[in-house]
Amino acid sequence: MATAKRIPDTISRILTPGGQKELRDRQARDLAERQAASTILNPGEVAGDYDARRMLMTTLGGQLRPLTVDDLRQLAANARRAGKRFKGGITAKDVIELSLREDRERASREIKVALPVRAKGDTILFVTNAGPDSDVQRHHVTVAFDGFGAAVASPSPVAKLARSVLAGPLKFDCDCGRHRYWFRYIATIGRFNAGRDEPGFPKIRNPNLRGVACKHVLRTMERISKADAGIALFVQRAIAQAREDLSRGRAVTASKADLREAAQRQIGATQRSTGRVLTAAEKAKRAAVRKATAAMKPDAKAARSVAAVERHARTLAGLGLITQGQLTAMLKAVSKAARASNS
Ligand SMILES: [Zn+2]
Repeated sequence: MATAKRIPDTISRILTPGGQKELRDRQARDLAERQAASTILNPGEVAGDYDARRMLMTTLGGQLRPLTVDDLRQLAANARRAGKRFKGGITAKDVIELSLREDRERASREIKVALPVRAKGDTILFVTNAGPDSDVQRHHVTVAFDGFGAAVASPSPVAKLARSVLAGPLKFDCDCGRHRYWFRYIATIGRFNAGRDEPGFPKIRNPNLRGVACKHVLRTMERISKADAGIALFVQRAIAQAREDLSRGRAVTASKADLREAAQRQIGATQRSTGRVLTAAEKAKRAAVRKATAAMKPDAKAARSVAAVERHARTLAGLGLITQGQLTAMLKAVSKAARASNS
């Protein structure tokens, strides 16, 4: 089949069955390890009920060292701030906005697909490829859409409903280590956690509670925020199913052919520069640079106008992409060229 050729092996391998058993096994292992863990800092302790003989460690301030009573106050303040930041729910776009740049860059570079494999009620299970340094082949991202129930009951056209479900608030979970150790606590206090709760403060990995999502979640959110055609269709099927079967007991599942098709389309979409995971500010900056650079090419129509070139050069300087010296040189060159063409 001609279409099969274009899917690289790393993606082809994740289209094989067994994903749900793999996810259940990972969840069971995660829970067992968590229950056996002896160095968890619990909420009561953060609130002040901490016995210093426990000798828990933290990286607050940059160095790994024993936790002090002062630290607890700082951790409690961090938790309160994070709780406030997420009041009112979180959308796919918000997740991207609140993420760390390093996670967005990893998602852009390494994670090519986020494929919907199963929907049950308001919850869709996505499978993504793993990064190149991972010891597993895929990760599972669970997303629960807050607007799903209302969409099931709404008389609006189902395509429109699917788009509004994807644009609305959601909850999520990932089975990778980054989510587990850095972000699950934040998801729990922010109330956008679609997996098990994590009341233990990430005192070593993420004491300042920075960021919000791993690269697998970010690629999934990038696709959701763009209302990826395959994902939108999957939501439509889930809405139709839920209208038929009020118990939400039956699942919508993707066939292997569905997955191949979705993978192919997403590989195409995420390889283009528009498939990068970027915040609104990053997108605006890239657009400004693109426009300015294009306008300054000698053959560009806009370059005939000295004023336009000057404006774009100032834009680049304003964004810090060229120095003041470069700007001055550029403006000099432009006026020289203008004089030459006028003479
Ligand atoms: Zn992850």
